[in-house]
Amino acid sequence: MVENIVDNYEHPNKSVTYIKESFKGAGLSDDLFNDYFENVCGCIGERCNSVEQCYCLQTHGVAYESGLLKLEYLQGKQSVFECSRYCCCNLFCDNKVVQAGPNKQLYIREVLNKGYGVFASTDFSVGTFICEYAGEVIGRDEAQIRLKNSNYCKYVMQVIEHWQDTIIETFVDAYHASNIGRYLNHSCEPNCVVIPVRIGRLLPMLCFFTSKPVTVGEELTYFYCPNSNVLSKMPCYCGSKQCLQFIPSA
Ligand SMILES: [Zn+2]
Ligand SMILES: [Zn+2]
Ligand SMILES: [Zn+2]
Repeated sequence: MVENIVDNYEHPNKSVTYIKESFKGAGLSDDLFNDYFENVCGCIGERCNSVEQCYCLQTHGVAYESGLLKLEYLQGKQSVFECSRYCCCNLFCDNKVVQAGPNKQLYIREVLNKGYGVFASTDFSVGTFICEYAGEVIGRDEAQIRLKNSNYCKYVMQVIEHWQDTIIETFVDAYHASNIGRYLNHSCEPNCVVIPVRIGRLLPMLCFFTSKPVTVGEELTYFYCPNSNVLSKMPCYCGSKQCLQFIPSA
């Protein structure tokens, strides 16, 4: 669906299939998966950076500044729409960030009590794209079943968006197949947030961006299930002063 993704990461555990982007899974309608926007921009050979000339930027706003996601988008006050492969701009368009693939300055290593974790091999500013949380995009009913299964539940991510009067829920299961995004751990004081990013269609990619400055060697983390106030029985080892002692769950 997104054709430019460059991703050379691997799973430390070879029983998990490495995928570069999410795919359609159980209980998700074909209509939703295949719903592409008709309106694209005609900025031929250009990087889209002029609001006056670019249909995409005029309609959806300018989400990135110098490659970093702007604050109002990080805070979820505005939705992110990138140019798509149907736009006429080239691969270096300023409005194509997520689709270039995961940040190249990441590594996976084992962490005491936490399994694997994802770490920064350089400093990151606020708003840096880390990676998609790639997996099987599933429907709501299927997600409810998997969330009750102790094997799956840790890997099913749910994102809820409020658009005027509608609520859009997206569920991605990274249990069997995923990318490096599978290894970001929970923290009660995280340095990343999950942002839905739309590239030419309604179904979003769930993407990690830094919400704080990150220094080299630091673990990248996010808050699991931010819309829930339920805690699982799994102890939390995030080590922050605000630690809830248990990992949140849906
Ligand atoms: Zn563009
Ligand atoms: Zn454009
Ligand atoms: Zn465009």
